[in-house]
Amino acid sequence: PVSCGVVGTAAPVVATAEGDDGRWFRQLAVPQGLVDDLVEEALVWCSQHGLVVGEKNHPRSGKAPGVGLLHAPFALLPMSFPKVYWEQALELAPLFNELVHRVSLDGDFLQQTLARTKEVDPFTRRLLDIHSKMMELNKKEDIQLGLTRSDYMVDGATDKLLQVELNTISTSSNGLACGVSELHRNLIRHHERELGLDPASVVGNTAITQHAEALATAWAEYNNQSAVVLVVVQAEERYMYDQYWITVALREMYGVTTIRKTMAEIEAEGDLRPDGTLVINGRPVAVVYFRAGYSPADYPSEAEWRARLLIERSSAIKCPSIAHHLVGTKKIQQELAKEKVLERFLDNKSDIENVRKCFAGLWSLENDNIVNSAIESPELFVLKPQREGGGNNIYGDNLRETLIRLRKDGSNEIAAYILMQRIFPPASPSYLVREGTFVRDNVVSEFGIFGAYLRNKDKVIINDQCGYLLRTKAASLNEGGVVAGYAFLNSIFLT
Ligand code: ADP
Ligand code: MG
Ligand code: MG
Repeated sequence: PVSCGVVGTAAPVVATAEGDDGRWFRQLAVPQGLVDDLVEEALVWCSQHGLVVGEKNHPRSGKAPGVGLLHAPFALLPMSFPKVYWEQALELAPLFNELVHRVSLDGDFLQQTLARTKEVDPFTRRLLDIHSKMMELNKKEDIQLGLTRSDYMVDGATDKLLQVELNTISTSSNGLACGVSELHRNLIRHHERELGLDPASVVGNTAITQHAEALATAWAEYNNQSAVVLVVVQAEERYMYDQYWITVALREMYGVTTIRKTMAEIEAEGDLRPDGTLVINGRPVAVVYFRAGYSPADYPSEAEWRARLLIERSSAIKCPSIAHHLVGTKKIQQELAKEKVLERFLDNKSDIENVRKCFAGLWSLENDNIVNSAIESPELFVLKPQREGGGNNIYGDNLRETLIRLRKDGSNEIAAYILMQRIFPPASPSYLVREGTFVRDNVVSEFGIFGAYLRNKDKVIINDQCGYLLRTKAASLNEGGVVAGYAFLNSIFLT
């Protein structure tokens, strides 16, 4: 039996300046007298440089660009970040890209691993149904494009970099993450003397240029000059400016046209030519870039599911394919963490070791000992359903009650969830700015490394890390998404 002792301390570790040997994540301190000026300068900078989101209370802010804008939430100064973790995460990026691809090719593994989840989770069932239809058709995806993001936290008790999850669909914030590192560099440059910091230590972010390059290269591989990149979006999207960063880069740097459509519009306007070409209102589509379609709310009717199937049946390059999407489920993450499973997909021993090193404790609810431990000490665990987009996990008393209920019912519903070791990153104070005002809070951070993987048959054209996302939230909170409203954008000050 695995004891709860393995999962670290129950409280966030607070990093102090004293005895700080540079290993710690720490929010950079802001001199008292400088806070108001920095906040004001930062707010002006955001407004002038597109570090913006749609405002919640404005009726049209999610529907039309240019109305109801608000600066994105951000931490006032970057976080000092030890080089060792940065380098470790960069090194892992191509390994995870390759792993996603290899797992995606093993249709039976995906179907079998998710078979029990399928019985109790209608959303996962619909995805798997499309996937098995493609298996029956023996559908091959010659050109595969993955824009991924592997998210990590550093566990304060063990100093280990641990993976929170691996995102394979709609990996967002690539646009705004670039903006915030520019913002921080700018503030530090203007106040270099007062802050005593070198602006060059703020790590520049290449997420937009590299993701645009990957999309443009995929578009070129498709080899149809008149084809467009189709961006799948939600009908209302207050995060649209994050998405516009990449579509504008595609147009300006590569001359590639993008069109934005909801799943319902794709169903209404889309068609397949006899050769498999996806056309929207008669325009051929080279690449389908999903910035929606990851959540049940994106499929309010059968029309959206028909659209997803249409896309999957087509010859367009899907970012991601249904198989790549499924590899990103929490259940697959948990299965890959089991003994001897990585070995099925990766050959190189040291690669396997490096990947495994960043796995936190992950368990299925069929493991009675772990369920007992979690009922006893729910604060040491996170209960996760097969969902994306933040705000879906279960913590604390709620976790305990859910487990007790599931156990009492003896229901198959347990297969909808996985249990994960709760990670407690080191905490330190920071100024957080939202809706034009700041608070000072004790915070923790999660950081993600974007990746790009492009392959045409046997040829790997791109397999690289592509910049980063650093998100900071109050240490007292459970969840941490920026879109979901919990976290603040931040950047890395390498030490
Ligand atoms: P999603 O796909 O919805 O983003 P995540 O697994 O990333 O799901 O969980 C959402 C948030 O919950 C994370 O951003 C993080 O703040 C928190 N979280 C998830 N797993 C853990 C964990 N093991 N320990 C601590 N916090 C976690
Ligand atoms: Mg996710
Ligand atoms: Mg996440």
